[in-house]
Amino acid sequence: MATAFAGKVALVTGGGSGMGRATALAFAREGARVMVADIHARNAGETARMIADAGGEARDAQMDVSRPAEVEALIEATITAWGRLDYAFNNAGINIEHGPVADCAEEQWDRVMAINLKGVWLCMKYEIPRMLAAGGGCIVNNASIVGLTGSRNTPAYVASKHGIVGLTRAAALEYGRAGIRVNAVCPGAIKTQMYLDREGDDPENNARIAAANALNRLGSPDDVAGAVLWLCSDASAFVTGHCLVVDGGEIV
Ligand code: NAD
Repeated sequence: MATAFAGKVALVTGGGSGMGRATALAFAREGARVMVADIHARNAGETARMIADAGGEARDAQMDVSRPAEVEALIEATITAWGRLDYAFNNAGINIEHGPVADCAEEQWDRVMAINLKGVWLCMKYEIPRMLAAGGGCIVNNASIVGLTGSRNTPAYVASKHGIVGLTRAAALEYGRAGIRVNAVCPGAIKTQMYLDREGDDPENNARIAAANALNRLGSPDDVAGAVLWLCSDASAFVTGHCLVVDGGEIV
């Protein structure tokens, strides 16, 4: 097992699936102890078991990032378990709309905003005091290329992801002097459950979506995990407030 993050503690929300799971496994491979949080208990537990089976150390927690008390309890549980919090990948998110702005239902708007945007803010709200007390840390928020560009038929999602980009930049300015770096990843089309729920798995459709980027393939969760680990590593020590596009060259 590699040791780049030996002795460190990482928290991953939405760690039961997709990019969150891949990133939790990657942190563990590099020697970090990992708190895997997800609204789906069984999936979080499965990720933690995969880490343990590979010789790493993990715990799992069932929680909803849109609920302040549950976020606070998650951070407390992490500190109780290991006494520190070095890295956080605020990744949990949903994408449930299928229509333009005027057709977006208020319930959809509120739910997407509560999980995608308020959820990231709540996580940072409770992570940052722990990192301040320890003299530093690294936060990576999961936005999207649609945090930087427009996209049709998913207006609350687009707005929430633009919000994450703004929140990332604001926090980077506020906490840089205290040793906390705050960055975001902006993935393009990554083949995860969210992608499958939205696009299905028709080879022709997958090929059409892949052809929109320079590398002509869909991204994998590991493509994003690599970017997150780099943003948490000393190799990116002078990088903060950055929104790293991981899209195979879709919005170049
Ligand atoms: P995914 O569906 O595989 O994973 C999302 C995880 O978040 C799931 O395990 C889910 O249970 C969890 N989750 C959902 N709501 C939650 C809540 N309220 N509290 C805690 N956990 C919750 O999808 P993914 O593609 O890996 O998504 C991860 C992130 O990447 C999301 O923020 C998504 O918006 C973003 N993203 C995805 C793509 C893509 O193409 N798949 C592109 C850009 C950005």
